[in-house]
Amino acid sequence: MHAIDALCDRLGGIEHSRDPRRLRAGSRDRFAQSPVLRDLLHGRTADVIIAPRTKDELRAAVAACARHRVPITVRGAGSGQFGQGVPLSGGAVVDVTGVAGVVGWTGAGVPTGVRALAGTVVADIDAATRPDGWELRMHPSTARQATVGGYIAGGHAGIGSCQWGILRDTGNITALEVMTVEEEPRLVELTGRDVNTVHHAYGANGIITEVELPVAPAWEWTELVVSFPDFARAARFSVDVCTSDGVLKKVVSPHAHPLPRYFPDLAPFVPDGHAMVLLLAAAQSLPNVEDLVHENGGEIRYRCREGEGVYGAPLYEFTWGHSMMHYQRVDRSLIGLLALYPHDGLHESIMRVHHDFADLGPLHLEMKRIDGGLSAQGSPVFSYQGRAHLAETTARLQDAGLAIANTHTPVLSASGMKPWGGKEAAFKREFDPYGLLAQGKADASAPADVSESTALPNSGWSYRLSR
Ligand SMILES: Cc1cc2nc3c(=O)[nH]c(=O)nc-3n(C[C@H](O)[C@H](O)[C@H](O)COP(=O)(O)OP(=O)(O)OC[C@H]3O[C@@H](n4cnc5c(N)ncnc54)[C@H](O)[C@@H]3O)c2cc1C
Repeated sequence: MHAIDALCDRLGGIEHSRDPRRLRAGSRDRFAQSPVLRDLLHGRTADVIIAPRTKDELRAAVAACARHRVPITVRGAGSGQFGQGVPLSGGAVVDVTGVAGVVGWTGAGVPTGVRALAGTVVADIDAATRPDGWELRMHPSTARQATVGGYIAGGHAGIGSCQWGILRDTGNITALEVMTVEEEPRLVELTGRDVNTVHHAYGANGIITEVELPVAPAWEWTELVVSFPDFARAARFSVDVCTSDGVLKKVVSPHAHPLPRYFPDLAPFVPDGHAMVLLLAAAQSLPNVEDLVHENGGEIRYRCREGEGVYGAPLYEFTWGHSMMHYQRVDRSLIGLLALYPHDGLHESIMRVHHDFADLGPLHLEMKRIDGGLSAQGSPVFSYQGRAHLAETTARLQDAGLAIANTHTPVLSASGMKPWGGKEAAFKREFDPYGLLAQGKADASAPADVSESTALPNSGWSYRLSR
C-alpha cells in the first residue's frame, strides 16, 4: 500500500485532508513576496494535510508519519516569507494551529515568563498576560496571525527588538518543549543555549510543542508618526532614541522619501519630500521623545494610544515585514535585502549607504539591538531586475560594510541568518532519526534547482557563537 494511504488509515479520527484545494493552500506561505521564489516554489504541495487538535493527537500523527517514513512540514499560520513552510518533497503538512492555548505563568510570585502551546497566536499571549501588567518582550509584526511556535521556528526579531535584542540573544527564549519524530515520539525540554539550536531551524530538527518566553512590563504604549525634512535627521533621531537607554520604546522604523507615499493611510501626515519615522514609545517617555524629535528638526504629525490609530490597524503593521507588503501593494516589483549595519559608526554607515545607493532606491530600516549592540536592518527598496542584478547588489552592499542574509531562499545554509553547525546536525540526528522533518531546508538534501537557483554571494550574519 502507498505510504500516504497507509498513513491516512492509521490517522483514524485525527482531522486530515487530501483535497487538492486544501493541500495547495496549506503548502504555501508568503514566499510570493520574493520574485525569485514566486515561480520556483509554485506548485510544490504536500500529499496530505493533518490538523491535530491536541498534543496527544499531534503525537499520534507524528508517530504514524515516522512509521510510514512520510516527510513532515510543520505549519503554523503560514506567514513565513522565505518559503520555509513549503514542502519540497511532498509528504504531510502538519498544521499545529489547533494545538493552542496559554499554559500559564512561570515563576513564583512575580512572573518570570509565560508558557504557551506552539499553535497559540502570538497576540493571544499578550491579551492573556496584559491584564496582570506583563507582556512579551518582542513579537513579529504578524502578531495577530502568527503562531508562537512558527515565530520561534521561522522568525527572528520584531516589535521590542530595539529595546531587547533579537530572539537569538541570550535570555530571550527561556525554554522550548520539542517533540521527536519516532515511532514513539518523545517530548524533550530545552533550556539555556540549547534553545537556539532549534530556534530559526524551520522545524528541521524538532517539532516545537510548547514555548516559554520571558515577559516585560506592559506599559501604556503610544504610536507616533514623525516627519523629518531629510533622511539624515530621521536616521540621527532613530539612533539617538535607541541609544537613550532610559527611553522605553518598542519600534523605531525610519523610511526615506518617497517611501511614506507607499502607505496611503500614513502619507497624509507626512509632508511631501520628508522622511518618516514610525515609533512606539511608552507614555512616560513621551517628553524625552519630544525633545529628541525637536533637537533633530522633526515634527510629531500624529499620536494615539496603541491600536487606536485612524489608519485602522496597529502602527506596527506598517513596520518590519509589513512595510514591504505595503510597498508591494503599490509596486509589485519592489524588493529589499536583509542587510545588517555594523554597531560602530552606525549613523555614518547608514548615511553612506543612503548616499552611495541613492541610484538604487530609498532606505527602509528597522532599528534593533543584536548581540549586545545597536544596529539597524534593512536596505534600499528597489525594483527587481533579475538574479544577476540581485547578486551584484548583494555584493555592492557587502563591500559597503553590511552583512547580508538572503531572504530569497528556503535553504538555511544559503540564507545565512542562522548558523547550522555540528550541534544543529546532532539534534537533527537525535530528534529526527529518519530525516523526515523540513526536507531540503537544512541539509545537503535540498533539491539542486532550489539551492542553486536561490543562492546569492551573501556573507550571512555572524554571531558570537559561544553565546
Ligand atoms: C507581512 C509580514 C511581516 C513579518 N514580520 C516579521 C517580523 O516582524 N519578525 C519576524 O521575525 N518575522 C516576521 N515575518 C515572518 C513571519 O511572520 C514570522 O516568522 C512568523 O512568526 C511565522 O509564524 P507562523 O505561525 O506564520 O509560522 P509558519 O510560516 O507557519 O512557519 C514558519 C516556519 O516554522 C516552521 N514551524 C512552524 N511551526 C512550527 C513548530 N511548532 N515546530 C517546528 N517548526 C515549526 C515551519 O515549518 C516554517 O518553516 C513577517 C512575515 C510577513 C508576511
